[in-house]
Amino acid sequence: MSLNSALVKQQVYINGAWADADSGQTIAVANPATGESIGTIPYCGRSETARAIAAAEAAFPAWKALTAEARADFMHKLCDAVMDQLDDLAVLLTTEMGKPLAEAKGEITLGVKYIRFFAEEGKRIYGDTIPSPWADRRILVTKEPVGVVASITPWNFPNSMIARKLGAALASGCTMVMKPAEFTPYSALIYGLVADKIGLPAGVLNIVTGDAPAIGEEMCENPAVRKITFTGSTRVGKLLAANAGKNMKKISMELGGNAPFIVFDDADLDRAANGAIASKFRNSGQTCVCANRFYVQAGVYDAFAEKLKSAMAEQLTVGNGLEDGVTQGPLINEAAVEKVAAHVQDALDKGGTLVTGGHRPDRTGTYFEPTLVTGASQDMKVAHDETFGPLAALFKFDTEDEAIKLANDTEYGLACYFYAQDLGRCFRVMEALQYGLVGVNEGVITTEVAPFGGFKESGIGNEGSKYGLDDYLNIKYSCLGGLGM
Ligand code: ADP
Repeated sequence: MSLNSALVKQQVYINGAWADADSGQTIAVANPATGESIGTIPYCGRSETARAIAAAEAAFPAWKALTAEARADFMHKLCDAVMDQLDDLAVLLTTEMGKPLAEAKGEITLGVKYIRFFAEEGKRIYGDTIPSPWADRRILVTKEPVGVVASITPWNFPNSMIARKLGAALASGCTMVMKPAEFTPYSALIYGLVADKIGLPAGVLNIVTGDAPAIGEEMCENPAVRKITFTGSTRVGKLLAANAGKNMKKISMELGGNAPFIVFDDADLDRAANGAIASKFRNSGQTCVCANRFYVQAGVYDAFAEKLKSAMAEQLTVGNGLEDGVTQGPLINEAAVEKVAAHVQDALDKGGTLVTGGHRPDRTGTYFEPTLVTGASQDMKVAHDETFGPLAALFKFDTEDEAIKLANDTEYGLACYFYAQDLGRCFRVMEALQYGLVGVNEGVITTEVAPFGGFKESGIGNEGSKYGLDDYLNIKYSCLGGLGM
């Protein structure tokens, strides 16, 4: 399970060629499990980004003109090339990001599913004919790719966040410039390697790394870019949305969350505890759909806390993600560890009780113990700010109305979860929660066939599913007149 150095591509990919930054400057990339250096990436800025955009613009007409089937063929070949190296790519992902190898494999496989799903969905970009109010005219509605798409993606799912966007863009006939997160660039740059391998036409896919604000500015201001798709923090999303808006570009934004996880008196508590483990501790708590606030009804509060504590002890093992049996890898960096530690300390200062965890384990790397705190209250940081780490904080509530109110008391609206058995309650609560994704008696619900998108400040637009292509398409109305009828 050693790292295949041929996959550590330390250059950017523009117009089908590999390049360094114009300045020659680089950024170092390290393994969060050990602190050891993996390599460097080019520190590009606006000029390299502008060249990548120009390449994507030049490649667009020919890519758009291909049949959906021909584009799908390229996309399936791309997926085959990824799956051929799944084991090596998973080691690369774990080495730069930290998540356990099994999760890395799962992520890459899911990314491939997104691309394959969209490859086929691209064949179903249907238009319409609308009954005409004029006897001698016909009304046709067709859909066309928007043009060059620019994407900016985060480090927590360095492969699949890109795959969702790349699949939708390529299937709809758009070309692309991607900027991955600087902590995890190699899992993105491998798309350049596989593009080369399968002979994807030059310019269809371009990848730049470096100065994020400068690259973002070029993407938002360059007239050739027609759409910005972003996954990351609400802070950066707002910045990009404002800048893209000034230039009237389409946007899709997948932003932060503050997911509630509600356990009602009538819940199956074993199922809820297992769902809590999956929802809270997957990727060491570093997903935008991770449960952040556990609201537990008074009658089952102590029993659920006990079950969750036992499940944590049985199922969670901290260590280097490359080691067998590890389920909790390191956090992405020192700042992430400090944030979890600050949330734990704040919760304890405000009357919370530490049930388990709560510390940095005594080992090199940016680790934090899976932590359970009971007696949480709304004045704690964890109630309002996504911890993005392995802290489960349990709040107590009495009534269904109170739980719904607490769950909705946030500017975010990405994912939420609840456990209950009464059918009436399931429907009432499902409909009352102001969230784009609702897990009912399920802790992990992401799939390429369902839409993924947030309400409120969690974003705009949807990824995956039959709805996921809409944001990459323009609707065109053509009126055919003079038909002589
Ligand atoms: P996270 O907290 O998950 O790192 P960020 O929003 O900071 O979320 O980062 C997500 C992505 O946005 C990364 O690729 C990062 O490089 C990029 N990014 C950060 N700041 C900016 C910016 N000012 N303009 C454009 N992209 C940015």
